[in-house]
Amino acid sequence: MFNALVVNKDDEGKTSAAVTQISEDQLPAGDVTVAVEYSTVNYKDGLCIGPGGGLVRNYPHVPGIDFAGTVEASDDPRYKAGDKVVLTGWRVGEAHWGGYAQKARVKADWLVPLPAGLDTRQAMAVGTAGFTAMLSVMALEDHGIKDGPVLVTGAAGGVGSVATAILAALGHKVAAVTGRPEASDYLLELGATQIVARDEINETVKRPLEAETWGGCVDAVGGEMLARVLGQMQYGASVAAVGLAGGAGLPTTVIPFLLRGVNLLGIDSVMQPYDNRLRAWERIAKDLPMAKLEAMVQPATLSDLPALGKDILKGQVRGRVVVDVNA
Ligand code: NDP
Repeated sequence: MFNALVVNKDDEGKTSAAVTQISEDQLPAGDVTVAVEYSTVNYKDGLCIGPGGGLVRNYPHVPGIDFAGTVEASDDPRYKAGDKVVLTGWRVGEAHWGGYAQKARVKADWLVPLPAGLDTRQAMAVGTAGFTAMLSVMALEDHGIKDGPVLVTGAAGGVGSVATAILAALGHKVAAVTGRPEASDYLLELGATQIVARDEINETVKRPLEAETWGGCVDAVGGEMLARVLGQMQYGASVAAVGLAGGAGLPTTVIPFLLRGVNLLGIDSVMQPYDNRLRAWERIAKDLPMAKLEAMVQPATLSDLPALGKDILKGQVRGRVVVDVNA
């Protein structure tokens, strides 16, 4: 028997989450059984732990959209007992039991070997949010980052914190947008060169085009913020659209695309093919300064998760929460 955070749904549709003992034969089918060491708290996890169950597809359910650990048993020749692995995406923690347990069983195709230079805790300090930040930076690079500062929205959150640290380490000027003035020192420590107040950007869109300001953007917020940012991009610059923490609507016009050649790049971390995942993790190990990663980390245990799930949905979590499932 081992510990897991199990989400249940009662006959009236009400969900509840509690740390529970489960056994290995309850785990879903898969090729590889992993002794999980660390998982994290992402926005999607907040939805899955919270009332209504968010994106959960089956009950009882073990959420946790990412984890890192050691292979315990494998029916797939690519992995053997003792290998260190990391998992993000593939609807794990939504449709398939995830990382909020001391063991997980998954398809071998969903795993990536831990790259040299990262341990399992560091991998989860990065987690899905940081992996997505890296995918965003890679997408911006593929389309060319211009000279102006690169804007990061939702900067004090998970995606934003890692994007800020990576872009700064790569030598870009980073303008970090935050609604939390108290996070300014933290963002400067991660390498931001400029702090932009959320209200400064997040007003009603008055004009489709404003001064050409940003050489690229990683946007974790969407909504009015993204609409406004599109009109502030330099000619031919790109926005990597990652999230919707500020809303799913997009009240914009075609003008930034027609008259400024702005590229809007959609970033999806869930269905990334193996080669892309491996490339992104290798870039993380190479380009993300580990001291900066440590500054982002807040430790947690399985029993902290119900409260942390609420906090992340309110935009109150700073940086990355690393869950030690064995603590
Ligand atoms: P966090 O909650 O850690 O960060 C989101 C940040 O957005 C907050 O910290 C806050 O930053 C800002 N924010 C929150 N609410 C608002 C608002 N109403 N208006 C403006 N800004 C707001 O979440 P993550 O960083 O983990 O994820 C961010 C988004 O990216 C989520 O929507 C998530 O679902 C999505 N995502 C998408 C992925 C993909 O594959 N496309 C993968 C991972 C995440 P501050 O306080 O600094 O303003």
